[in-house]
Amino acid sequence: ARRFFVGGNFKMNGSVKAITDIINGLNNAQLDPNVGMSGADCFVDHNRESDTVTEVVVAPSALYLMLTREHLRQGIEVAAQNVFDRPNGAFTGEISVSQLKDAGITWTILGHSERRVILQEESTLIARKTEAALNGGIGVILCVGESLEQREANKTIEVVTAQLAAVAERVKDWSKIVIAYEPIWAIGTGKVATTQQAQEVHYEIRKWLASTVSQEASENTRIIYGGSVTDKNCRDLATQPDIDGFLVGGASLKPAFFDIVNVKR
Ligand code: 13P
Repeated sequence: ARRFFVGGNFKMNGSVKAITDIINGLNNAQLDPNVGMSGADCFVDHNRESDTVTEVVVAPSALYLMLTREHLRQGIEVAAQNVFDRPNGAFTGEISVSQLKDAGITWTILGHSERRVILQEESTLIARKTEAALNGGIGVILCVGESLEQREANKTIEVVTAQLAAVAERVKDWSKIVIAYEPIWAIGTGKVATTQQAQEVHYEIRKWLASTVSQEASENTRIIYGGSVTDKNCRDLATQPDIDGFLVGGASLKPAFFDIVNVKR
């Protein structure tokens, strides 16, 4: 069984005060008592068999990573929203994998559509960053997803698998990758994918993993859904066989996030 995985992507939101309030909320929330029992050893127990354990990761903007790690309860991991692929040097504005490790950060989001589209990141750069993060011992929440135009042209699977294929060219071991399927038209729009739409793409991603990476990767890789997930719509999505969790944007800044974390409780 794959461990359920819920990530909170705070994006470019918050302040010292607001992030501190969210941390305190998480520290005091009634979460599944088994949440994040693996602690900092997220690599060790990655896919431990259990029905009750949900792995929880929050991703504040870079400025608040250390504050978050310092004050957040043990057992909830902290993710960066991005990382660079070079080890150190003259790369103004960038953060390295070893700097994340130094700060106690164990995950990074990569390939979010806001970076692909607004910051013009190419799949090849995202693949290099993924390789660098994994080599440095940082887990990767790898985001893929199609635009509305691409969906309407029936190109969803083609687009998503091409985004994944760029990574597969460089990375053979997918055990520390969580794939986040985030259709662009569902992000921040309140227009969540139907359970059927999400399940269909997740199933196709799993099939692609089997044919391109390995049967083992297909069985063990968590494929999570992102795009207008709320405490109201998460329950149905969570029942689908190939939906292994969520990457939550807007709702991760609110108490509704606790209910999403507890959906498998
Ligand atoms: P929303 O939940 O705000 O739609 O954002 C989803 C997302 O982009 C998570 O990475």
